[in-house]
Amino acid sequence: MRPMQPVFDGHNDALLRATAEEIAAGRPDGHLDVPRARAGGLTAGIFAVFTPSPERHDPIISDGGWEEPLPPPLAPGVAAEHALRTAGRLHRLEQLGAVRLVRDVADLDSCAADGVLGAVLHLEGAEAIGADLEALELWCAAGLRSLGLVWSRPNAFGHGVAGRFPSSPDTGDGLTPAGTRLVERCNELGILLDASHLNLAGFRDLAATSRAPLVATHSCAHALAPASRNLTDDQLDAIGASGGLVGITYVVAFLRADGRDDPDTPLTAIVAHAAHVAERIGVDHVALGSDFDGATIPAALGDAAGLPRLLDALRTEFSADDVERIAWGNWRRVLDATWSAKRG
Ligand code: ZN
Repeated sequence: MRPMQPVFDGHNDALLRATAEEIAAGRPDGHLDVPRARAGGLTAGIFAVFTPSPERHDPIISDGGWEEPLPPPLAPGVAAEHALRTAGRLHRLEQLGAVRLVRDVADLDSCAADGVLGAVLHLEGAEAIGADLEALELWCAAGLRSLGLVWSRPNAFGHGVAGRFPSSPDTGDGLTPAGTRLVERCNELGILLDASHLNLAGFRDLAATSRAPLVATHSCAHALAPASRNLTDDQLDAIGASGGLVGITYVVAFLRADGRDDPDTPLTAIVAHAAHVAERIGVDHVALGSDFDGATIPAALGDAAGLPRLLDALRTEFSADDVERIAWGNWRRVLDATWSAKRG
């Protein structure tokens, strides 16, 4: 039997769905918990702290496409309180011995060596941090190592891409002055900046400002599936030139050429997006970013325990060495380059 390939995953929403105790012990449904991670070889991943909008944002489906109503900005204070509780849940998971908080690459390697699930603390949308950025210092001290300036809705830092299919990602204005300052301070603190959910203007501002490799933690290729959330070939080129990566996401509506939210989507769809990014910018810039517990994923994968089936599908297109890079090595390289550039 082949030894299990370690996997680093770029994005999950498990903290939004279940308590620390449920994630530690396993739960009856959902995509990710500690037993499922162990069964699938999921070694470490980026755990999102996300504050939902109180308004519903279900997509409006029409012939040949869909559109998500863009939620208004969150009321002041709502995200700060919710995000603290969600991040507290991750620290509780660590106290239970179920995960190890990953603050640097030595932590990541120790998770792989010890068989403990590694968790990178991530803010998906920076509303919990005010435009003065003072709270960022405390979040960093609490282990924050990855941050997306925006989710879909606008905030003090920028404008998320409006969810549409088919659509270009060019859906509005770029980063605000506070957004630019947040990028600069995250560079100084060695916090990864996530380009997934940024619209095209915001992506360009991030690329022009950030000194770190450009990373989209959970996105797919627009050339294969024209959702606004996917990356155009020009965006892929910028990511490749920066030494960054794309975490190919398993969200079926972003994988499919018809944009449908259909769980009957084969694993070859994920392989095709990985192959497109590899052909365009090189396999060193291809990685994984599931969106476990955040969206509909292929039924053929099921949950984190199904990862070996995805790796087998990748092996039909990529060499064993390339699958190692996609599953683990590329994430490790980019996280190391980003985190070790810290200047205090
Ligand atoms: Zn997301």
